[in-house]
Amino acid sequence: MAGAWSGLSELLRGAVDLALPPLCTACGEYTESPTGFCESCIKRIDRYDYPMCLQCEQPIFSGIVCPQCGEEAMVLYAFGNYVDPLKEAVHQFKFRGVTRVAGYFAEEIAARFGAEIGGLAPAVLVPIPLHPSREHARGFNQAEVFAEALGSRLNLAINSEILIRIKKGKPHSRLSDNARARNIRGAFSVIAEEISKDHVILVDDVVTGGHTVREARSELGKAGFHVPAVISIAHGR
Ligand SMILES: [Zn+2]
Ligand SMILES: [Zn+2]
Repeated sequence: MAGAWSGLSELLRGAVDLALPPLCTACGEYTESPTGFCESCIKRIDRYDYPMCLQCEQPIFSGIVCPQCGEEAMVLYAFGNYVDPLKEAVHQFKFRGVTRVAGYFAEEIAARFGAEIGGLAPAVLVPIPLHPSREHARGFNQAEVFAEALGSRLNLAINSEILIRIKKGKPHSRLSDNARARNIRGAFSVIAEEISKDHVILVDDVVTGGHTVREARSELGKAGFHVPAVISIAHGR
C-alpha cells in the first residue's frame, strides 16, 4: 500500500533533497538556510504559539480541557496558519515532493509542544491515510512523511497500518464545509485487533474544519482507541 517514497527512510529522502538547489520552499529565492525558507518568508509565517480546541478553535493554554467548551477537547497542535508563505510550502511538500521541510516543521513542533505532547503518553502517531489509489498516484503520503519526521523528534512510535482509507472521495480543497462533512463520512476503517489500545495522536498535513480528523477519531473510538490530539503543519479556517 505504501508508495515508493514512503518506503524510503527520512535520511535517504534528505539525501535526495540535498540534490535540489537550495531555494526557499515558499518563494523560490536562493537561501542556504537549513530551515528550507529564506529569512523574509520565515518571518512572515503566522505561527501558533498555543494548541487549540478543534471544536471552538480557541487556544488551550494548559491541559486538554477546553475552557470555552468546558469539556475534554480534541487538541490541535499546529505549526501555523494555512496562509502564504506556509500554504505555498505545504503545496510544494504535498504536490511537488519537497519533503525536506517536514523535518523543520517537526523540529519546531517538538520544541514548542513536545513536553505537552509527551504528557499524553503512552501514545502512538497515526498518519491520516490517503486512499491507496491517491497514494499510488502521488508516490507518498505526506501525512506519513510528516509523522516519520515527528516520531524521531518526539520519541513516539508510528503506526501507519491501523487506520485505512476505504473511500476515495473528492479532494476537500474544492468542497464547501457541508460537502466536506458528507464526503468524509465512512471514509476510514480500523484494523486493530492485535494492537494494544494506546492513545492515538493523529497526524495530517493540513486541518481545515476538522471533518477528516473527527471522522478518523470516531472510527478509532469505535475500536477502543482514545484520540486526545492531532498534530498538523497548518490549520485553516
Ligand atoms: Zn522565501
Ligand atoms: Zn473548545
